Amino acid sequence: MDRHKIPRTKELEFGGFLGAFCLLFLLPATVFVLLLTCRTEQASLLNFPLPLPTLRSLWNPQDFALVLAWVGLQALLYMLPLGKLVYFLKQVTEGTVLRDKSRLLYCINGIHAMWITALLVGVGMVAGLRLSYIYDHLLQLAFSATVLAFGLSILLYLKALLAPGTALAPGGNSGNPIYDFFIGHELNPRIGTFDLKFFCELRPGLLGWALINMGMLVKETELRGNPSLAMILVNAFQLLYVVDAFWNEEAILTTMDIVHEGFGFMLAFGNLAWVPFLYSLQSYFLVTHPQKLSLPVAGGIILLNGLGYSVFRSANSQKNTFRRNPVDPKVAGLKTIPTATGRRLLVSGWWGFVRHPNYLGDLIMAFAWSLPCGISHILPYFYILYFTMLLIHREARDEHQCLRKYGLAWQEYCRRVPYRIFPYLY
Ligand code: NDP
Repeated sequence: MDRHKIPRTKELEFGGFLGAFCLLFLLPATVFVLLLTCRTEQASLLNFPLPLPTLRSLWNPQDFALVLAWVGLQALLYMLPLGKLVYFLKQVTEGTVLRDKSRLLYCINGIHAMWITALLVGVGMVAGLRLSYIYDHLLQLAFSATVLAFGLSILLYLKALLAPGTALAPGGNSGNPIYDFFIGHELNPRIGTFDLKFFCELRPGLLGWALINMGMLVKETELRGNPSLAMILVNAFQLLYVVDAFWNEEAILTTMDIVHEGFGFMLAFGNLAWVPFLYSLQSYFLVTHPQKLSLPVAGGIILLNGLGYSVFRSANSQKNTFRRNPVDPKVAGLKTIPTATGRRLLVSGWWGFVRHPNYLGDLIMAFAWSLPCGISHILPYFYILYFTMLLIHREARDEHQCLRKYGLAWQEYCRRVPYRIFPYLY
């Protein structure tokens, strides 16, 4: 079968065409409502109407140029001949029939990009770069990133229609332009060997998130003389998460986003605008709503984050090691279930505890990131609330895929490991 021609997508997600259309406006609106609310004294979601900025005040060519320069810098670093090149066998499955067995080459040099970026930012700061500019222009920068995400998504959709270089996405081929634009029409769009989705997944967004956090820390220091313990904790926890993602960059090749999702507005906006500007909401909140943390409370929060991180990391590593080499001594002793595809499912260790132990660890960490912001406001808890919904929805989508892929073996796995994310609860 021609790998560009895949069957029409029949099962539509996110509420179908109408849902996808609404999300094109709702997602950016959420970013701006939350950022605007965070800046108000009350920081309350009930405090309506918000002081709305005009489009003119949001559009600043200099900030757009800065966002472009940031993405451009990351693209240049991505192309540096550092790190390693790995081939990854794409297996887009329909039942057990492999539709596309193309091998794609990926450049794994995110950790180098991260260190070079840190060095450039450090040198820039010594030379007088004011990182608090990020706080002062956060809305304009977020608006520029949103414009860029829309622009990129339009180009991606046109490319998928006119010059698809790789397979189309199984979930983004409904024939409805709005739906396919939202979900992503092409699976792994590339310009030569430059993989646009893989690049956007981590580089501009995750490093942008860490940079915005640092901008908030610098702003707080300018305002109050030194950074608060709460701000230091939020920065340190989230930096650990970002560094971990780059340290384990190769592992994203087996995630749903790379294997299954098309590259369209959902991921482009998510990676370029949603992640950097909303995941940094806690540090943004702390600049205008300082919190005092006692050392014992801070110690408890650090322990909680450590617990979440160790569950998250060991669960993800266990599955990655197993998928890469099932006879690796680290996983060889674990119990497994055979499936008709030849791949086995882990049924002991972390993956025998709940069906998505990595989500559980991620959610524990998300809670620890909000706690330094105190309990007076709900706004800094947006991340954990949204993330719980996202992971419950994502888990349901993954279960659906796995049931299609593994059939009876998946049912057996669900019988032996009855809880999805939270032991004895869900
Ligand atoms: P997972 O890494 O959980 O991968 C799911 C896949 O793992 C399944 O499709 C299946 O694929 C395989 N699998 C499931 N159960 C088993 C088992 N028992 N034994 C062996 N393999 C199994 O999915 P995600 O891509 O959703 O998540 C990756 C990480 O990224 C998670 O830690 C998640 O929390 C995090 N994440 C973070 C986000 C954020 O915004 N911060 C957003 C989304 C995810 P197969 O069998 O084909 O290998």
